[in-house]
Amino acid sequence: MKKKVYFKTFGCRTNLYDSQVMMSAMKDYEITHNESEADAIVINSCTVTNGADTHVRTYISGVEKSHNKAKIFLTGCGAHTKGESLLKEGRVHGVFGQSEKQKIDTLLKTEQPFYDPGDLNHIDDTVVNEFVGKSRAFIKIQEGCNFRCSYCIIPYVRGDARSMDEEKILEQISTLALNGFGEFILTGTNVGSYGQDRRSSLARLMKKMSQIRGVRRIRLGSVEPIQISDEFKEILDEPWLEKHMHIALQHTAPQMLKLMNRRNVYKQDRELFEFLASKGFAIGTDFITGHPGESEELWSEAMQNARELPLTHLHAFTYSKRDGTPSATMKPEVNGKVAKERLHEIESLVQEKNLAFRKSFSGELDVLIESYKDGLYHGLDQHFNKIVVDSKEDLVGNWINISKYEVREDANYACI
Ligand code: SF4
Repeated sequence: MKKKVYFKTFGCRTNLYDSQVMMSAMKDYEITHNESEADAIVINSCTVTNGADTHVRTYISGVEKSHNKAKIFLTGCGAHTKGESLLKEGRVHGVFGQSEKQKIDTLLKTEQPFYDPGDLNHIDDTVVNEFVGKSRAFIKIQEGCNFRCSYCIIPYVRGDARSMDEEKILEQISTLALNGFGEFILTGTNVGSYGQDRRSSLARLMKKMSQIRGVRRIRLGSVEPIQISDEFKEILDEPWLEKHMHIALQHTAPQMLKLMNRRNVYKQDRELFEFLASKGFAIGTDFITGHPGESEELWSEAMQNARELPLTHLHAFTYSKRDGTPSATMKPEVNGKVAKERLHEIESLVQEKNLAFRKSFSGELDVLIESYKDGLYHGLDQHFNKIVVDSKEDLVGNWINISKYEVREDANYACI
């Protein structure tokens, strides 16, 4: 009887993809979705914030408290920041870097505790043929980042930017499209830098993807404002491109962007966002509040600028000091409570903007139903807005067009 492995994935879509690669590469073990019956637990960790590290430690404590005899293995970005200390404390049996994940069978059989950070310049070439429990497929096209934002630890745990082989990516898409997937989310550490090291580009790759039979919608992970090139603007009206873009600003006060060593400039960001909004795009962004130097004055300037932006989605955090980053020694620091208040302030602003966007939209929603929960179906439309559907029919995995629906605070609601 094969031993059972439980995968616990934290963090971003790139980690979701990496976990799928490990699940697909595993031959000598069986995947279990029941943690208590696992012989081994693989934690695919995140280390983007202190909170992310705490989540991983809390999870390990939970496993220890449940007297689960399973061996714990740590991989993902946290392997490079917390791996050695967790191994020394005897809280994990093995630690391995993302580049080693295809050797999962051998790693799980290793008797002695081990630490193998692997190679930060590794490029994956695995093709997965399914996404366990998903109706849409996350496709990692790129790894690492050449930016050096002063608060960010990621380039040190994911390496420099490098693109996956384009033929492999297209083979990946074809395989999954043959297996019924129609929506593909392109992911990576700095997706927009795809192709710079391979005489290609995001726009060129997406055009090729759209030629593959079965590809219905392409979504993009977070891109940087400066990566929306003229070539990219040419594909904005394509029917296979989602009508939503997530473009990472991280802040809207020019002085803060300088302190954070960001490459984007607020004036150009605003022009870009207004251009995309004029083409009917919903627009999301990343934002960090409470970075050192964020005075009351700079904050009110940031909020004033944010009010002027056609934002609809927000992925925001309070600043998290990461040892080894330039920001970690910057002064004056911002009080944690103040940072939280500012986070809530910008979150409620964008919620209002999202509701206004949904109320003002009068067209048809193009929805992929992903799950069924509490008697209702849940999905996302072309604007990356949630929709809840009441239906007697089993809709999971179905594409439906909806023109009659009710706009509520939390989501759109329909009955079909
Ligand atoms: S672009 Fe900046 S924030 Fe994003 S991964 Fe790279 S260094 Fe970090």
